[in-house]
Amino acid sequence: MRIVVLTGGIGGARFLTGVRAYARQAGAEVTAVVNVGDDVIMHGLRICPDLDSVMYTLGGGADPERGWGRAGETWTVKEELAAYGAEPTWFGLGDRDVATHLVRTTMLDAGYPLSAVTDALCARWRPGVRLLPATDDRLETHAVVSDPGGGSDGAGTQRAIHFQEWWVRHRGALPTHRFVFVGAEAAKPAAGVLDALAGADAVLLAPSNPVVSIAPILAVPGLREALVGGRAPVIGVSPIIGGAPVRGMADRCLAVLGVPCTAAGVAELYGARSAGGILDAWLVDSADAGVAVPGLTVRAAPLWMTDEAATTEMVRAALALGRPGEERG
Ligand code: GDP
Ligand code: CA
Repeated sequence: MRIVVLTGGIGGARFLTGVRAYARQAGAEVTAVVNVGDDVIMHGLRICPDLDSVMYTLGGGADPERGWGRAGETWTVKEELAAYGAEPTWFGLGDRDVATHLVRTTMLDAGYPLSAVTDALCARWRPGVRLLPATDDRLETHAVVSDPGGGSDGAGTQRAIHFQEWWVRHRGALPTHRFVFVGAEAAKPAAGVLDALAGADAVLLAPSNPVVSIAPILAVPGLREALVGGRAPVIGVSPIIGGAPVRGMADRCLAVLGVPCTAAGVAELYGARSAGGILDAWLVDSADAGVAVPGLTVRAAPLWMTDEAATTEMVRAALALGRPGEERG
């Protein structure tokens, strides 16, 4: 069996620990298609937060408390940069993490595509699943916000800031009009992505942020079409439990789109494949049992990713939804 997972960073990485455990039991192969919309160049280094969260988590090198970056991290480089007054100062750049960004940036500068660079980094981390960036091209999520300084007529002006600045520096608390995926129109799926989707027996949407983790993946031309046109069932796992995003700020992102922060709201945002969307089935938490979404098979199961065993059961429940008839098994 071949499983493809569309994923963001921290939430997706946790989910993938369960997918990997399931796959080991079932003898399945896993490919993760990872968001690159958070990627950013800082201090001359190419940083890929979601790819790194997944790689470090699956490779056993992630900081378990912080959820991002390396375990046993030190911050000398960050302090030294601050001593120079080098901007930005609000971004967490750990010493161990810097080594990853140096290797990545050097390889990219030498002409290797991001997918090949990711492979090379994974030779060290051995994540146990195949990691593919959604695209090798530059695709950046920006937030269009009201510029507090602009507009002498009182109408205000708008400006776009990188998602990292919106999220990390401003905690998503600026008046925000929309998100744009800069570069998406010209982006192509990374080498291997379309083949993975074509060969998939099941596609899972991790319980990642739908607005800024999954949407930028789907914004790569051809990727959404491959998903919708493919033979594999597409099963989503809700990132929202009982009206709350569990961890993180998905509620702030959903609010920008005017989508209710509920399990049904996110399912309707993705849409049923039968009605022009992408999903065949939707797994919600037991707290949301009874939620109905037109066109979708909906089932409830515990969705708190407390440990690998609980997460593995979640994955099992999601995959069962792709095999109608067995779904009660
Ligand atoms: P990011 O790129 O680091 O923001 O991570 P993701 O986009 O992959 O995942 C973030 C999302 O994971 C959050 O918005 C939460 O809604 C969701 N999430 C985090 N922990 C859990 C959990 O235990 N269960 C479920 N169902 N969702 C979770
Ligand atoms: Ca992310």
